[in-house]
Amino acid sequence: MPFHNSFRLAIDIPPHFDIIVVGSGAAGLYAALCLPDHLRVGLITKDAIHTGSSNWAQGGIAAAIDPSDTPTLHLEDTLSAGVGLCDPESVKFLVENAPAAIAHLVEMGVAFDRKGEKLAMTLEAAHSRPRVLHSADTTG
Ligand SMILES: Cc1cc2nc3c(=O)[nH]c(=O)nc-3n(C[C@H](O)[C@H](O)[C@H](O)COP(=O)(O)OP(=O)(O)OC[C@H]3O[C@@H](n4cnc5c(N)ncnc54)[C@H](O)[C@@H]3O)c2cc1C
Repeated sequence: MPFHNSFRLAIDIPPHFDIIVVGSGAAGLYAALCLPDHLRVGLITKDAIHTGSSNWAQGGIAAAIDPSDTPTLHLEDTLSAGVGLCDPESVKFLVENAPAAIAHLVEMGVAFDRKGEKLAMTLEAAHSRPRVLHSADTTG
């Protein structure tokens, strides 16, 4: 999509990108990495590259991967912990897609901690099953 001239001048975006991703947190970086290789991707962010929440997320990332677990249990735990504040459709999308997203991150080389050959998962907070994957204390 062409940029409006004043926007372009204000932030001085070089003209040779096909796509601009705004934000250098987990969402922006993952979106950028998932784009087709032939696209020229520009990433813009506020202040410094580590500004934002992702760099603080040390605990881990939840996904129903353990054989004792299911996305339905993950959904129930999340809605219960959310005490009415969560959008159920968004949570459903998240829990149903989390296992595939983790598999993709592993494929991309994210160094999640292991227990033997398997991914290590901890039981934390309001989760009723071990489902928090981590990469030391630098998961985000
Ligand atoms: C202390 C802390 C601990 C947490 N621990 C966990 C955890 O253990 N597990 C977990 O799952 N979640 C955790 N979270 C939540 C998690 O960090 C966030 O849900 C996640 O990082 C959101 O990612 P994001 O990419 O959407 O946002 P962010 O990582 O915040 O990225 C937003 C990006 O947008 C950029 N930006 C903002 N405004 C502009 C602008 N106007 N122009 C250009 N760029 C802009 C910012 O610079 C940043 O790069 C934690 C959060 C905090 C604060």
